[in-house]
Amino acid sequence: MGSKQKLSEMIKSEAKKLGFDACGIAKAEYLKEEARHFKRWLNSKMHGDMKYMENYFHKRVDPTNLVKGAKSVIVVLLNYYTDKEQKDKNAPKISKYAYGKDYHLVIKGRLYQLLKFINNNINNINGRVFVDSAPVLERIWAVKAGLGWIGKNSNLISPVHGSYVFIGVLIIDSELHYDIQTNESCEACDKCITACPTGAIISSKVIDARKCISYLTIEHRGLIPEKYHEKFNSRIFGCDICQDICPWNTKSKKHKITEFEPDPELLKMGKNDWYNLKEEHFNRIFKGSAIERIGYSGLKRNIDFIRK
Ligand code: SF4
Ligand code: SF4
Repeated sequence: MGSKQKLSEMIKSEAKKLGFDACGIAKAEYLKEEARHFKRWLNSKMHGDMKYMENYFHKRVDPTNLVKGAKSVIVVLLNYYTDKEQKDKNAPKISKYAYGKDYHLVIKGRLYQLLKFINNNINNINGRVFVDSAPVLERIWAVKAGLGWIGKNSNLISPVHGSYVFIGVLIIDSELHYDIQTNESCEACDKCITACPTGAIISSKVIDARKCISYLTIEHRGLIPEKYHEKFNSRIFGCDICQDICPWNTKSKKHKITEFEPDPELLKMGKNDWYNLKEEHFNRIFKGSAIERIGYSGLKRNIDFIRK
């Protein structure tokens, strides 16, 4: 085994020790084809109010613009699937990924430890960690690192863990041994396209965010268009429909991350508790969670929208 391969194996084994469910490594290179797709998507305005996506295009499609001399992109996956559910079936629904503590913090902490491990094993390396907070096409890198493929619902599908996974990226300026992309795909399945209540999956892997419940409840500013009222089915933060229907998620296993455990109080909240939610209660129950990001007024807007 060559030294690059040995080091790569050591990094993957350390990632496992840190609790990550999978780790793959891709060569850092310009994303030529993806740059074309991404540009086309932006030009069609399907990103809606997410103007930040128009920024730093050159960084998004070329890791060497993020880390000088970038050679390798290390990608980790962290499963967040849980079979725990909100007790009141009529209560406003929140997406599984938002049940526990904010994943950005949970993953970043572990990625910094991985970077420290690499620093201890390679002299003078430079690296940066990214978790959905910088211009990085995480899902594309996960594919290139051999961890799965992009499903028609545009999520990463891991053949081992399904799609309820968070993705973390570590870019370093040192060469490693690179994984091979899988040639698996969704094939003839189109369950997610059929199941999407708002028709947001306009074609394979192309989401019109402006129609997506996840976007409308989290990223959209201002009032939610009335035409979606009946489609929301009580969703107030995110939407799991196109993942719940995916056959690759039928065997999802429960995550092992304590921080992702839902607050029991959250699961117990009934429809009226949500409808009468006060700011003080919001601040206590969602402190440090992804929901905190939209603030009390954002969540209240969503609750008011579904209860009309
Ligand atoms: S998250 Fe919901 S609304 Fe968005 S594409 Fe998936 S099913 Fe459609
Ligand atoms: S539901 Fe089917 S088409 Fe959609 S992501 Fe899953 S496998 Fe692919």
